[in-house]
Amino acid sequence: MVKMSYLAKPYQRSLIRKFGIETPTAQLKYNAQFVSDELDWKKIYSLPHRVALDTKSREFQYKLLNRCLATNVLLRKIGIIPSPVCSFCGEADESLEHLFVTSHYTKKFWAEVIKWMGNLDIAIEPLSNKDIMFGMMDCNRDLFVNHILLIARKYIYSCRCNKTTPSIIVLDARIKMIHRLEMMIAKSCKKLPIHLKKWGKYIEN
Ligand SMILES: [Zn+2]
Repeated sequence: MVKMSYLAKPYQRSLIRKFGIETPTAQLKYNAQFVSDELDWKKIYSLPHRVALDTKSREFQYKLLNRCLATNVLLRKIGIIPSPVCSFCGEADESLEHLFVTSHYTKKFWAEVIKWMGNLDIAIEPLSNKDIMFGMMDCNRDLFVNHILLIARKYIYSCRCNKTTPSIIVLDARIKMIHRLEMMIAKSCKKLPIHLKKWGKYIEN
């Protein structure tokens, strides 16, 4: 069966109209995990497209939203590896939530990300589990903040795949590179004012 959330929005809408497709399993799982949070799926799904210009970042977030990223729990379940433990700490099972939120390596890294934002005079504390997984839906400077959160999330996953642990120094270098790339794209598309508005605080510092 085609997973609805892989499809572009107009197709999603037409499928819902035609076949009455129900809520995807991944969303149901997240809804069950974030029972005390209101998850606005429309906003959550549109965010990657709004904040990132590169398709790989968008794809990464869609995979996370669809729970399609390989974790050791998943790899163990399908018999590819013998142990489900976390690639970072080796102490707990590596679920998506553990990898991105609760592993103590990840927690330490998010604290550094909060500090990094604080140095730009952008307050994102407290960062909830929901913010970490999906982004901050109602915050000032939301394009910039949510792009940084997306870059950080994607970086955590690349650390897992490369068998390293997340470092704010490496993240900072990645952000510099992405900023330069977006600046070049903005210049060539004559959209520099939009770029300057999004990256303003970062450029000033
Ligand atoms: Zn861990």
